[in-house]
Amino acid sequence: MLYILVVGGDKRYIHVIETLAKLENNLYLIGFDTVSFDKSNVKHAKLEHMDLSIIDAIILPIAGTDERGQVEIMYANGHFYLTEQILSSTPDHCTIYTGTANDYLQGMCKAAQRSLIRLFDRDDVAIYNSIPTAEGALKIAIEETEETIHNANVCVLGFGRVGKTVARLFHAVGANVYVVARNHADLARVTEMGLTPIKPNRLHKLLADMAICINTIPSLAIDDERLTNMSISTVIIDLASKPGGVDFVATQRRGIKAVHALGLPGKTAPKTAGRIIANILMESLKSEQKHQ
Ligand code: NAP
Repeated sequence: MLYILVVGGDKRYIHVIETLAKLENNLYLIGFDTVSFDKSNVKHAKLEHMDLSIIDAIILPIAGTDERGQVEIMYANGHFYLTEQILSSTPDHCTIYTGTANDYLQGMCKAAQRSLIRLFDRDDVAIYNSIPTAEGALKIAIEETEETIHNANVCVLGFGRVGKTVARLFHAVGANVYVVARNHADLARVTEMGLTPIKPNRLHKLLADMAICINTIPSLAIDDERLTNMSISTVIIDLASKPGGVDFVATQRRGIKAVHALGLPGKTAPKTAGRIIANILMESLKSEQKHQ
């Protein structure tokens, strides 16, 4: 039985809280005022009234904090800033869980000497999470285009965990899938999957014929120059986390529809995505306990 503080999070975290509560952990929630839970071991909390010295783990949203330590709160009013002082008020063994972590969050945990676990660093989590992400991208593609995905030319940039699942899903629904990758082994795998491999230096030419262009590369992959060749009927779906991989100022100027589709698992399949996070959290909490 652990004392866990959950600070912020989206719809996925409601499932996470319910799962952790079933295991008889004591949960304190900040940022969930408008959601009610019917278990007595789940309590809404205010930081100023909390005894942080009993907290074994702090669970942050997938994005962790912003560059000033602010944690995104969706189900309550007000702001929450995670500080070094808060972390230092927890016991030495208190572990901080997040999906991803920027330099600020990493630095703060280091300064407070608290261990930080980034759940999305794990390959298995990223792969499971790519499934609702790809389904969300398909949903957007269907909604934003006026023709079927079947037989549409779809270009997928990047062939990592998300890129592979996106390419496979669009291929499965009958799209003509082109995958842009820089790595030779990836290009070979693309060919093996029956898709068309494209080297980055050939992307410029290819873009003219694409109905949908899906970016998964976490750096500027579709810049103003690459847009020059793109038809205004092409729909761009950028899946890369902030700041993304598309020059959105240029797409707007050129009248090309571009969607920066973030947090898709939480939007399209919050229960499945919540289950993925809950499973990995339970495993991680158990293993941390063993080491204490
Ligand atoms: P990943 O497994 O690391 O794959 C990234 C891919 O991008 C790889 O193919 C990599 O190629 C390529 N790449 C990276 N930097 C590049 C560069 N400078 N030029 C060309 N190619 C480059 O990452 P992932 O798990 O697929 O995630 C991709 C992005 O999606 C991340 O930003 C992630 O945070 C985001 N994401 C978004 C959602 C959502 O809901 N929108 C959900 C999950 C993940 P190499 O292998 O050759 O390096």
